[in-house]
Amino acid sequence: VKWVLIGASNIAATRLVLAIRARGDEIVAVVSGSMERALDFAAQHDIRRATTDLTDTIRAGAEAAYVSSANHLHYGQVTAAIHAGLHVLCEKPMTLRLDESEHLAALAATNRRVLAVNHHLPGSDLHAEARELVDGGEIGAVLSARIAHATLLRVDGRTWRLRGQRGGGIILDRTTHDASVLNRLLGTPVRVSAMQVAQATWNQDGGPDAAMVTIEYRDLDDRPILAQTHDAFTVTADPTRLTLHGTRGTIDVIDAMSQEPRGTIELLTAAGRRELRPPQRDPYGIVLDAFAAATTGDGQPTVTAYEGIAALRVALAAEESATSGRVVELAR
Ligand code: NDP
Repeated sequence: VKWVLIGASNIAATRLVLAIRARGDEIVAVVSGSMERALDFAAQHDIRRATTDLTDTIRAGAEAAYVSSANHLHYGQVTAAIHAGLHVLCEKPMTLRLDESEHLAALAATNRRVLAVNHHLPGSDLHAEARELVDGGEIGAVLSARIAHATLLRVDGRTWRLRGQRGGGIILDRTTHDASVLNRLLGTPVRVSAMQVAQATWNQDGGPDAAMVTIEYRDLDDRPILAQTHDAFTVTADPTRLTLHGTRGTIDVIDAMSQEPRGTIELLTAAGRRELRPPQRDPYGIVLDAFAAATTGDGQPTVTAYEGIAALRVALAAEESATSGRVVELAR
């Protein structure tokens, strides 16, 4: 696949450039809002073309775009990329509003382009193994899930993410990832309640940097399942975790929300405690492999546009609840 990178971002620099090249794919251009940043990024990562004009990338022969700009720019850039004939892998959250994301999904479908969201966790080997344990009935019927996704935000990332407006805030950043995992595991989210605060002394912008969210899911038999997430930019030392309680046992996934191919699973049942260490590949490589296959008509991306929308729906409901102080019901 010949890629254009839209967004001279940290995630592109630290993860996706490597993962794209590890597949043998090519990066033909980088697009930035600033020519200086585009040139810097291109020089650092050995990319031929640096531009501020997306239409340039058509001339560069790109087939797919990876959009990893700040969240409020995704909608316009994905729209332009699809209009330019490109398949798109978009960072999460796909957009800031549901109607915008729905419009992009429809636009991609009309133009027969693949649109996927780079939630790297659901497709990972670790989460696939956890789902296999659940589907295999190892812990019986699932009753509840807890996600700990509280880490310390890197110093150079303390920019737009900390703003309450225009795509910042902990919920759009982390709860979206949590929802991408929980939605696939638990079924249909039906109501959401949340609180969020700003705690960090270094958080000058005052946007929310920590949140706790409670979600009620319904499984295929319409049985209720409770899920709870703790998302924060402020916690210095805590491994991320996904804990699933069932009628016959518990699955504890340690380092569950990492960008690295690491993490272990503990299964606790009446038979005792069993530790699993599934072999793991780079989660971003898995996303790219499925995306590339989907562009040739072979299968689906690891997280489709519609699954990205479902994750966003939970996150936006959490934001609404945190702002209004009310429980938000989701249409089924
Ligand atoms: P960055 O802040 O590193 O980059 C976002 C944008 O900020 C860039 O596209 C760039 O704009 C601009 N920018 C970068 N450096 C500077 C600078 N020094 N001065 C001014 N502007 C700058 O964001 P992230 O890489 O952390 O996140 C990008 C996207 O990826 C977000 O949507 C985020 O939610 C998502 N993300 C996803 C992860 C995942 O695991 N799936 C993990 C981390 C982030 P321009 O392009 O105009 O140059």
